[in-house]
Amino acid sequence: MTRGNGGGSSTLDDLNQRVSAARADVESRGETFYPGASRVHLAAFPPKERWSDWVELDSKAWPERVERRYMLVPTTCFNCESACGLLAYVDRDTLEVRKFEGNPEHPGSRGRNCAKGPATVTQLTDPDRILTPLKRAGERGEGKWEPVAWDEALDDIAGRIQAAIDEDRHREIMYHVGRPGEDGFTERTLAAWGVDGHNSHTNICSSGARAGYHLWMGMDRPSPDHENAQVILLVSSHLEAGHYFNPHAQRVMEGKKRGAKLIVFDTRLSNTATHADHWLSTYPGSEAAVLLAIANHLIRTGRYNAEFVERWWNWGEYMAECHPDQPATFEAFQRALRDLYAEYTFEFAAAESGVPAETIAAAAEIVAGAGTRLSTHNWRSAAAGNLGGWQVARTLFLLNALMGAVAVPGGTYPNSWNKFVPRPIRMPAQHPKRWNDLTWPADYPLSLMEMSFLLPHLTAERNGHLDVYFTRVYNPVWTNPDGFSWLEMLTDPKRIGLHVALTPTWNETAFFADYVLPMGHSSERHDLTSYEQYDGLWIGFRQPVLRAARERLGEKVSSTRDVTPGEVWEENEFWIELTWRIDPDGSRGIRRFFESRERPGEKMTVDEYYGWIFENSVPGLPEKAAREGLSPLAYMRRYGAFEIGSTVGPVYEQRVPEAELEDVQVDGGGRAYTRAAAPPSPNVVPLPPLDGDGEGRRRVGVEVDGEVRRGFPTPTGRLEFWSRTLAEWGWPEMALPGYVRSHVHPASLEPGQMCLISTFRLPVQIHTRSANAKWLNEIAHTNPLWLNPGDAARIGVGTGDLVRVETQIGHFVVKAWVTEGIHPGVVACSHHMGRWKTGDGPRQTMATVSLDREGTDWGISRKKGTGPFRSDDPDTARIWWTDVGVHQNMTFPVQPDPISGAHCWHQAVRVTKAGQGDRYGDISVDTARSREAFRQWLKLTRHAAQHTPDGTRRPFWLLRPVRPDRDAYRLPWNSSEPSER
Ligand code: SF4
Repeated sequence: MTRGNGGGSSTLDDLNQRVSAARADVESRGETFYPGASRVHLAAFPPKERWSDWVELDSKAWPERVERRYMLVPTTCFNCESACGLLAYVDRDTLEVRKFEGNPEHPGSRGRNCAKGPATVTQLTDPDRILTPLKRAGERGEGKWEPVAWDEALDDIAGRIQAAIDEDRHREIMYHVGRPGEDGFTERTLAAWGVDGHNSHTNICSSGARAGYHLWMGMDRPSPDHENAQVILLVSSHLEAGHYFNPHAQRVMEGKKRGAKLIVFDTRLSNTATHADHWLSTYPGSEAAVLLAIANHLIRTGRYNAEFVERWWNWGEYMAECHPDQPATFEAFQRALRDLYAEYTFEFAAAESGVPAETIAAAAEIVAGAGTRLSTHNWRSAAAGNLGGWQVARTLFLLNALMGAVAVPGGTYPNSWNKFVPRPIRMPAQHPKRWNDLTWPADYPLSLMEMSFLLPHLTAERNGHLDVYFTRVYNPVWTNPDGFSWLEMLTDPKRIGLHVALTPTWNETAFFADYVLPMGHSSERHDLTSYEQYDGLWIGFRQPVLRAARERLGEKVSSTRDVTPGEVWEENEFWIELTWRIDPDGSRGIRRFFESRERPGEKMTVDEYYGWIFENSVPGLPEKAAREGLSPLAYMRRYGAFEIGSTVGPVYEQRVPEAELEDVQVDGGGRAYTRAAAPPSPNVVPLPPLDGDGEGRRRVGVEVDGEVRRGFPTPTGRLEFWSRTLAEWGWPEMALPGYVRSHVHPASLEPGQMCLISTFRLPVQIHTRSANAKWLNEIAHTNPLWLNPGDAARIGVGTGDLVRVETQIGHFVVKAWVTEGIHPGVVACSHHMGRWKTGDGPRQTMATVSLDREGTDWGISRKKGTGPFRSDDPDTARIWWTDVGVHQNMTFPVQPDPISGAHCWHQAVRVTKAGQGDRYGDISVDTARSREAFRQWLKLTRHAAQHTPDGTRRPFWLLRPVRPDRDAYRLPWNSSEPSER
């Protein structure tokens, strides 16, 4: 959000002159001038020198000139994972947060936000937010609650965790997080407890893409340099719903302004597609075929970067393993490469995708002309929708790898080199000794993240009991597929002993908790963030803004709960307190990780935790802070973010310094091992736990051109075109970037079925996090089914008519929206809406429904939508809409990809005109069919027991949150897993 103070019509020259004059004026006062977002008009941000006393006219008092005095306090948005900087406008007279705007000091977002950032203020003032700890008073889900004292809740939870640890029932403690929004605090907590209890949402989100990237480069996310690209290729609706939405979107637009061509693969005419030079409306799941056709074009025409391929691909390993009869030369490899993708012609890709061959050819020509300035990105989208979706990311990155557009200006960088995770104070050195097979079953040895969405089935079929189950920023009943199976699990005390929901707002999962504990919103909590949004390294600080404001006024605030509304806590203080109660006398060796260094025997405070990190773990921050006369913590409280470096560059090319090459040994694959210790700043060049040489040396890099260079954190140290990991763990036919026909490929659909896309959202809502934000709900509050006019005519419906969408396990009833913006034969429904409650709960976002069950048959029918109501906020009486959309995810079976483990979201559905008995918002599911679907997809897997090459359950080098001790990787697995298949 920026404020414009220019007016009237002006030429660009006039505007530039006025910008220069404004800059001179501001700088003459010794203050910082922030140019506006477009850099040509006069919009600007308040100079940081005046953030402690900023005066603005009160817009609501107009036409009177009423001045308001503010303190501007930075924090970090939490309404998606982009972690954009926000500036809270804290009224100096009342110490209330009046609004949020962008933080121009934040290197990722650079002062800009999407609508969800400023809407944070409406979440703070939401009349339905949870302000008191609550304990269940009736049956789970009955909706009866009573207030409970924090002490009582903490003692109860801590007592159960303590007993589980003492009785060696570590597997029964699980922390299930949706959006972490922080780096390391909670993982550190679980490591301190010795519990392999981390569970995430990632396998219903980004695991597919991550797996594709990880297998190539040992790092699991792309960091595209859109701003400097010549060609930007996006496989997603990136500008509205993609990964790092605002930070990337602004750089995509800057790249375009500099002349970059934008190619977008998107089945829908999304906002992103409308900005494209070439929009390819690919049939869902065909994306990899199109990408391979482009790769084939680059290879056939010789327009790829052979020097880069020769130096950095593991082609030697591929030739040795797959073509042992041929000479191990690069020329022989180039010949093999030419043959490998010859079948991927433009015509083949056209037949698979429905995109004309000429359009694909034109896109291929543009890519061929990009040189190394090719920035590409895929995150959820196709990788999250399809069986084999991980190959979409793998084939997309193949284009970068062919062009040498890897970690160079305008290319795509690996995330780890553009993300900074500092070393925390008192890090538990030990890894959990136990393996949790409820999250990491050996059926899915290569799954990149926890098999989180299978939890109801795994607990049901494998005797799973969780004695303490935390959900935090996570609403699996609503967000996950197969929500009724989640309800069955959450209401079964044999499977869930105690469910603790940590949340600021009610959600469908919290209704089925035993404790609901109120947590702070983004401006009421501490977190560290850092994300790969350009070729640089930054760290952001989320902080309770009223705590920082009061401290700026000279007050001493010892706990965040002194400044939060009601009895709201921040999570970090919750974890510290809970840990102390689990290990009150320190005898379990857990409490010590949360003890103060400054005051031995006392609890660590968040000030000490973050103060130590900023002082000791963030290069350059202490010096920068000192130049302003501030401590590092005070600097971060004042500005909210710090850029450690603006250019990182191709780390893989860096020569390893002599000092690190003590007694260096290079093996036959070029991998270099050293006896020297790791450098002190491992975050800049992170390496996974790659094996040493067995003689006390550690991996330090790879020899290229006769020099030991950093290389990539893969088993070979190079980009892995051929994956030994896939080949050795049972998937030799998948070891190369390739094309997997999706489960929604036309050949797999039954007559009358269509593909449903459910992986997109509108840009002003994100799952449950943006709920209860009245501004956002006014803008977007429904999710009709996109239907092509041809399909609509065949079905006999028009816009606004009700349609029934039947999936494998049930159906839902929704309104149709007839549009040319969707590929014929495909329907689409945004996943951002469809919230529900059975009784009391949020009034502006949720429909009130009847939830019915008969055996395994479940149903939801709508009693009423939303509407105006009286509260402290007069705006709630002005709610003019009644619709809140329809919850579709409950009708989706689990569909885990057998390799990446990602849920394959796209659905094979039948769409018909709604029948007489159908009503808007109806949802119906038979969970017996859900169980059948779970077993069907389980048959696609290749279990570690049959396919492990080394007696372990998972390749040790693959990423893993809270990585257990190496011994825990060894099979045989826990007794609850099947011993035979
Ligand atoms: S919701 Fe918008 S402002 Fe907030 S972090 Fe995401 S992109 Fe940035």
